[in-house]
Amino acid sequence: MTVKEHDYLPDATNSCRLDVIIVGGGMGGLSASIQCALSGHHVTVIEAANELAETGTGIQVTPNSSTLLKRWGLSESFWSSAARPSSMNFRRYSDGTILFREQNYAESLKKKYGSETLNISRVDVQKGLYDRAKELGVEFHFGTKVIEIDMDDGRIKSAAGQEFKVLLGKQDYPEATGDLVYRIILNAEDVPAGELRDKITNPELNIWFGPDCHAVSYSIRSGKALGLGLVRPDDLPAGVSKKEGSAEEMRELFRNWDPILARFLDHVKVVETWKLMHRQEVETWINDKGNFVLIGDASHPMIPYLAQGANSAMEDGATIGLILGKITSKSQLPQALQMFQTMRKARGEAVARESLKMRTFYHMRDGPEQQERDSLLDKYTDSKRIIEEKFPLSWVCPIFQPWLFGYDAHIELEKAIESSPFV
Ligand SMILES: Cc1cc2nc3c(=O)[nH]c(=O)nc-3n(C[C@H](O)[C@H](O)[C@H](O)COP(=O)(O)OP(=O)(O)OC[C@H]3O[C@@H](n4cnc5c(N)ncnc54)[C@H](O)[C@@H]3O)c2cc1C
Repeated sequence: MTVKEHDYLPDATNSCRLDVIIVGGGMGGLSASIQCALSGHHVTVIEAANELAETGTGIQVTPNSSTLLKRWGLSESFWSSAARPSSMNFRRYSDGTILFREQNYAESLKKKYGSETLNISRVDVQKGLYDRAKELGVEFHFGTKVIEIDMDDGRIKSAAGQEFKVLLGKQDYPEATGDLVYRIILNAEDVPAGELRDKITNPELNIWFGPDCHAVSYSIRSGKALGLGLVRPDDLPAGVSKKEGSAEEMRELFRNWDPILARFLDHVKVVETWKLMHRQEVETWINDKGNFVLIGDASHPMIPYLAQGANSAMEDGATIGLILGKITSKSQLPQALQMFQTMRKARGEAVARESLKMRTFYHMRDGPEQQERDSLLDKYTDSKRIIEEKFPLSWVCPIFQPWLFGYDAHIELEKAIESSPFV
């Protein structure tokens, strides 16, 4: 099945122009806004934040979503703000020994899946998507927090007042995973010239496995900065999801880790701590009336240990926009949303479960199980062909990786429409 390489222009032939209202201008909302606009609909995004500000650090964009970004025609400045990791290294926490290395990482994924792997600052992704959405005529309302949604008349209200549960008929609180993350950005000029700065300008992706903890680092902003994420057991009080952390305490916790990591941490002045949350799978993502749908983290939240939350949210955004481009009458909307749920729910939830599995794999304490893990990884390091059917490091598992990175929302939609066309 083939799909068009670019869909740069809105579909002016769409005879069923909808008013699509998107709550939240994050990864999923912005992606959906672009694809819905390209499908010829009128799109409004309502965003609680006053502006697209720097929150978090970087995003690893994998081929399953970079293929969408390419079709959406994001600007040159977006593509040049990314770093392309030369290698992906899984390391032992205490001394940085490489347990498993994939050389020419971005390049080999491009060969396999035909699309790029980018390490990029989160705000650069949001800005790239936002600029494209604006170009396509999407209307934005920043500083507007939605507190109530009335499905019957299709109006979304943002007046102050109590929260209103609309989909499940009950409150659905997120649950703590037991982990907390320090999110840090270090600019190349914040570290002395030499080894540390070279590590930033020569982009590598590093993941250190440690007892109950792990750390991730990669270059962003075309190799001018380093994004660092350090995961440790959560000690924030219940109900506190984000707090300024102590750089001293963080350094103390990671003192006996790989000396290069410790040297980077010496240059960190300010840190934020974020509680990592998840949520049980929900029965449905769509309402009875068939005019409301959840996408992204709201539908399948996932811990970031496979770096897929944003990638999945972009797949969702593309899929909903493409489906809405196929309908010819408003009466097909419930059917369209049902198709979205059928296409996306099993996949989104499977990625979330796989990400959770990585927590156990990364966080093993020193002992026989960790030694077994490390010797299995060592057997296949340096891009040796993995012969195990199901390899426990999902990133490189010969079954899971093609399923994850080889996904193309356009092709999947064409297949779905072919097997159950709208009537
Ligand atoms: C440490 C860490 C590292 C990560 N790394 C990666 C990675 O490398 N790759 C990857 O794919 N994913 C990664 N993720 C996950 C990724 O950030 C999320 O999964 C992704 O942002 C989800 O997109 P979303 O659109 O669903 O939500 P978000 O991007 O969070 O957007 C939601 C938006 O809705 C707005 N909003 C919320 N409530 C309201 C309201 N009531 N009214 C109006 N607006 C509202 C918010 O302000 C926000 O802008 C990481 C996450 C973390 C915590």
